[in-house]
Amino acid sequence: MTKIVFSKAAFIGAFTDPKAIQDYQHAEFIILGRSNVGKSSLINSLTRKPIAKTSSVPGKTETINHYVIDDQISLYDLPGYGFAKFKAKRLGWSDFIDNFITTKSSQLKAFLLLLDIRHDISEEDVAMIEYLRSFDTQLIIIFTKVDKLSTAELRRNIEVLSAQVKEVYTKSFVIFPFSTKIALHCKNLEKMMGIWAK
Ligand code: GDP
Repeated sequence: MTKIVFSKAAFIGAFTDPKAIQDYQHAEFIILGRSNVGKSSLINSLTRKPIAKTSSVPGKTETINHYVIDDQISLYDLPGYGFAKFKAKRLGWSDFIDNFITTKSSQLKAFLLLLDIRHDISEEDVAMIEYLRSFDTQLIIIFTKVDKLSTAELRRNIEVLSAQVKEVYTKSFVIFPFSTKIALHCKNLEKMMGIWAK
């Protein structure tokens, strides 16, 4: 495998049928989180271009968006949760998403679950963490929008939110602070993803 330098990115497509998603045998990462948590912004930071639509108004896209980085990493952006529809089903997760995650190959390296560092974890986050616990896949918690807090608040919130996740997840997980405004955060995340991708 050549070194992953995050120099090339492509949007493959938005899918409603998981079977239509081509398997490239890449290292795969699934991105999850509430609407408006910063998923699209994270993808745009990693791909260096406005490839994913960001919005201050929560979107309602019900598709799996597939991005490829350096022809070696596949990122799957799943629909943001937090809408009425989410609560309607088992964990509020639609069957097609459940089907997608359940059938993912051994190429799946980690779940990247985004949580807004400013807020306590929500009921939906708890449901999602419980759901992810049932898989044998590494969980990476990405605390987003950390630029919005002071250093002291940030330290405190990382501690509080990590404890909230730990209470539900009960297995080991990795924590990663992230902000689109702090270039170093993106660099560090890329470094870690490069290592996980191997
Ligand atoms: P998504 O719904 O999870 O894809 O969230 P978006 O990426 O569209 O972000 C929602 C809003 O939060 C947008 O207005 C972004 O500009 C803003 N946002 C996302 N990440 C950050 C961040 O790290 N710092 C700040 N200050 N704003 C952010």
